[in-house]
Amino acid sequence: MDCIFCKIIKGEIPCYKIYEDSDCLAFLDIAKEAYGHTLIVPKKHSSCLMETDASTLQKCMNVVKKVGDHYIKNCGYDGFNIIINNGESAGQSVHHLHIHLIPRKKGDCMGLWHLPIDETDLAEVQKHLQIVEEEVDDNKIVLYTDGACSGNPGAGGYCAILRYNDKEKVISGGDAETTNNRMELLGVISGLKALKKSSEVDVYSDSAYVVNAFLEDWISYWVAHNWMTKGKKEVANVDLWQELIELTGTHKVVWHKVKGHADNELNNRCDEIARSEIEKYKEIK
Ligand code: AMP
Ligand code: ZN
Repeated sequence: MDCIFCKIIKGEIPCYKIYEDSDCLAFLDIAKEAYGHTLIVPKKHSSCLMETDASTLQKCMNVVKKVGDHYIKNCGYDGFNIIINNGESAGQSVHHLHIHLIPRKKGDCMGLWHLPIDETDLAEVQKHLQIVEEEVDDNKIVLYTDGACSGNPGAGGYCAILRYNDKEKVISGGDAETTNNRMELLGVISGLKALKKSSEVDVYSDSAYVVNAFLEDWISYWVAHNWMTKGKKEVANVDLWQELIELTGTHKVVWHKVKGHADNELNNRCDEIARSEIEKYKEIK
């Protein structure tokens, strides 16, 4: 498809990236009509707001919140405007959903937003505004994960705690409508995805579903039988299993099944954080 934002997402066209996660990308608008004018786009193509599913919108709005919060807390802004142009009459020129985020300061004299910054180099603006996440800088990692769901299906949350070199990184997220097994899988996936280089990872999970699929090698059977179970049913969550299999090809993973809701500190923390994510996603719903 000939979509300029899809090309930016694929890396075929360069951009001044501010932030990226598995679902969204935030980058500087090249129009230079306002300092820090940022676009937030979903990686999954949809032409406009009306064509975008609720879960994708929710992910975009979470990134809007993350970037806006960062601009206020770390970059010297007091607030921001967000705008979505829908339809050509409303000024939409690129038909891939995008949310304009305009950082604002008290007394910046923008009517709505119009502060030409022609002289400013976007690479300098990017350096000022970019979200730089700390890199996981070792290749021997301990990864604790957990997933939780309120109702099955229902609102769910997941958490991954990475420990390396006496340091720790916590990743969490969720979905308004999901299952417990999907959250367990996403816990592991989000942890492994955070690793920038091939690593040896000890994964600790209380999900028999996730751990036994590898320890008892259900995976080979599923792959050999075109994702059908021994009972001739379609395997659930194939999208996530495939993503996880790819990640276990990049990293050397050793699986450990832990007892849930016992006295394992890291497992309990993961559980707590996953549950707090459920509350956030219940609200969004
Ligand atoms: P809209 O008018 O709401 O469709 O907004 C599209 C925005 O995309 C405009 O503000 C353009 O300046 C911006 N834009 C178009 N091409 C690029 C690009 N290659 N990199 C960054 N921003 C772009
Ligand atoms: Zn697109």
